[in-house]
Amino acid sequence: MAEIQPDILILGGGIAGLWTCAVLAKAGLDVLCVETATLGATQSIGAQGIIHGGMKYALTGQATRAAQAIAGMPPIWADCLAGRGELDLRAARVLSDHTLLWTTPGLLAGAVSRFAARAAKSVLRTEVTDVPAAERTGPFAGVKGIDVYRVGEPVLDVASVLAVLAELCGPRLRRVPLERLTVTGGSRPMVTIKEGEGELVIRPRIMVGLAGPGNAAIAKAVGATGVKSQLRPLAMVMARARGGAELPMIFGHCLGASNLPRLTVTTGRDGDGRNVWYLGGTIAERGAGMEPAALQVEARAELDACLPWLGLAQRKDVSLAVVRWDRAECQTADGSRPDEPVLLPAVAGGDNAVYFGWPTKLAFAPRMAELVGEAARSMGISGGGRAGSASESSNWLALQPAQVAPLPWDDAAAVWS
Ligand SMILES: Cc1cc2nc3c(=O)[nH]c(=O)nc-3n(C[C@H](O)[C@H](O)[C@H](O)COP(=O)(O)OP(=O)(O)OC[C@H]3O[C@@H](n4cnc5c(N)ncnc54)[C@H](O)[C@@H]3O)c2cc1C
Repeated sequence: MAEIQPDILILGGGIAGLWTCAVLAKAGLDVLCVETATLGATQSIGAQGIIHGGMKYALTGQATRAAQAIAGMPPIWADCLAGRGELDLRAARVLSDHTLLWTTPGLLAGAVSRFAARAAKSVLRTEVTDVPAAERTGPFAGVKGIDVYRVGEPVLDVASVLAVLAELCGPRLRRVPLERLTVTGGSRPMVTIKEGEGELVIRPRIMVGLAGPGNAAIAKAVGATGVKSQLRPLAMVMARARGGAELPMIFGHCLGASNLPRLTVTTGRDGDGRNVWYLGGTIAERGAGMEPAALQVEARAELDACLPWLGLAQRKDVSLAVVRWDRAECQTADGSRPDEPVLLPAVAGGDNAVYFGWPTKLAFAPRMAELVGEAARSMGISGGGRAGSASESSNWLALQPAQVAPLPWDDAAAVWS
């Protein structure tokens, strides 16, 4: 049996685990990250990739806590994407440097959504500018009877972000199938990895569960009964054209007769180079309780209501598929989304601790890394104090590297109709 004792062991290679591992490694901490499946498999790879600055939480016209908390995130990402931030993300792909906010045609809905868009504009730090009819391009070119706003929230190709972060983590990141990994609590929490006939034991000073929906099982294994998480389901609809036709690129939110985005459309590229629309917003929340066939009918109706000038109702060459996700978060009293990322201490005994974290949004990943860094400093763990790194151990290096999860539209399990 071999044993390694890193400062920090992260369980989970989604956006939170990878960002945290990369930042702490850069700061000189002896950090390792274990992923049991593929990187970002349970949520991050399914994200729409919008680096929110609070627009969707500010549509009430109030500077809500959620809007204020996330408002600082786009500049941090922008610095990283430009290569001057805490991490160098220049190799990640920016799909669009902004989103659009457009209002639905029609007198009543139009008036409500115009009000909501202007309210958001008045409370946000994120730039929101009107796009007059004459300046509209792409699928919005020449469209009259609606308002269009340009919002300074970029949209990223999440797979490329995860790949760059994995590269930055380097040998500190490894994949261990769940059935070969045992997590144990007690006074010195540890992870045991079965390797053929032998075992590798990892006893970190701090163990951090950043495993999304997997945090619940880890909390149970270490006996952290006070750590409560919640799952909020979403059913996302994907749409792509057949027979050589192509859907136009759209990144943005359609506002309806409420202050929540009615439909959020982002556009990905599948393995065959075709554009795929990925539909979120209130339809994805409602869709969680619907059968795929009924949800697809509703999605076609929503597309037609939000983009009527594209004539999608008449098009027979557009295929749809449904993909379901559970958003994993720290439990709130009423089951609603927490306003900010959460890092909870679970087991603290002498020199060792276990924490659980949920970023709540992809955009909050830098903040999660900051919280884990603060927890490490509070235990006197800082960079530069150690001679060797646990990641140099041959038993650790013998484990498999981890791969990025397939994008939802490239997943062979997706059923298109
Ligand atoms: C459909 C959808 C759209 C979204 N769109 C956006 C958006 O546009 N912008 C935004 O900011 N946020 C968005 N979000 C939210 C965002 O995706 C999540 O908040 C974020 O990705 C969570 O990241 P994570 O690293 O905590 O978890 P995950 O991405 O779930 O990663 C957890 C990882 O842990 C691994 N794991 C599980 N169990 C274990 C274990 N025992 N040991 C080790 N590893 C384990 C999993 O395989 C997985 O790779 C969206 C979420 C969904 C579902």
